Amino acid sequence: NEELLINSEKLYVAGQLAAGIAHEIRNPLTSLKGFLQLITSGRCATKNYYDIMKSELSRIESIVSELLMLSKPQIYDLAYIDTRKTMGDTVTLLEGQAMLHNIELETQYNPSPLWVRGVENQIKQVFINVLNNAIEAMSEGGKIHIRCTREADEVVIRITDQGPGIAEEQLSKMGQPFYTTKDKGTGLGLMVSYKIADNHQGSIKAYSEIGIGTTFEITLPYAEYVPAEEESAAPKVTPISR
Ligand code: ADP
Ligand code: MG
Repeated sequence: NEELLINSEKLYVAGQLAAGIAHEIRNPLTSLKGFLQLITSGRCATKNYYDIMKSELSRIESIVSELLMLSKPQIYDLAYIDTRKTMGDTVTLLEGQAMLHNIELETQYNPSPLWVRGVENQIKQVFINVLNNAIEAMSEGGKIHIRCTREADEVVIRITDQGPGIAEEQLSKMGQPFYTTKDKGTGLGLMVSYKIADNHQGSIKAYSEIGIGTTFEITLPYAEYVPAEEESAAPKVTPISR
């Protein structure tokens, strides 16, 4: 029975994910417990441990908040979103961090609105995750190109970095929960982003060339939308009935 098969596969994936989450959270918890024991035993100077404890706590915090992104029932936030604005907000948010790393963000926007029907916070999360990865990949600085275009009935967003690129065998692992090559990575950003894109009937693809850079291509279905006269400047949240 096909349905049964699909269900058991889902259970398998859920089990894998649960095991991964448990593991990833247990590690920092174990080390926190160790430090607390050291501190309460009064055997050593406590000061040096606080920084490590704080970073272990933030690790747990970021894992949990990224995972929450997946489970939030945000269907009531469905709206028509001009993805140019969402990207503009994202760029504003990450500009400081880019500047800090000598990275220039170069944007190119479609002249007319790029309407997508969806949950703005989630779409923004995808843009943040992909752009963050691009910034983190460019330790030497450089340029990141961000192009927001419409191609037939799709909105296509391309984020191109000048980082080291991604090897073939790495490409297939990306998006697997907890796959990371970074010391402080969670390995959840892409998994969450793929899931969000999928929920919006969209997709994310990566094209990479070693030594040249990587392009992440986010595709979402274009939604036909004509805003009413007075709300053309800022699209309103549209409540949906059930
Ligand atoms: P994290 O950023 O926490 O490591 P992600 O899911 O966001 O987790 O990314 C997973 C991995 O994919 C990264 O650790 C990195 O190895 C690789 N990756 C993602 N984006 C890029 C990029 N633009 N350039 C090079 N490698 C990338
Ligand atoms: Mg990331």
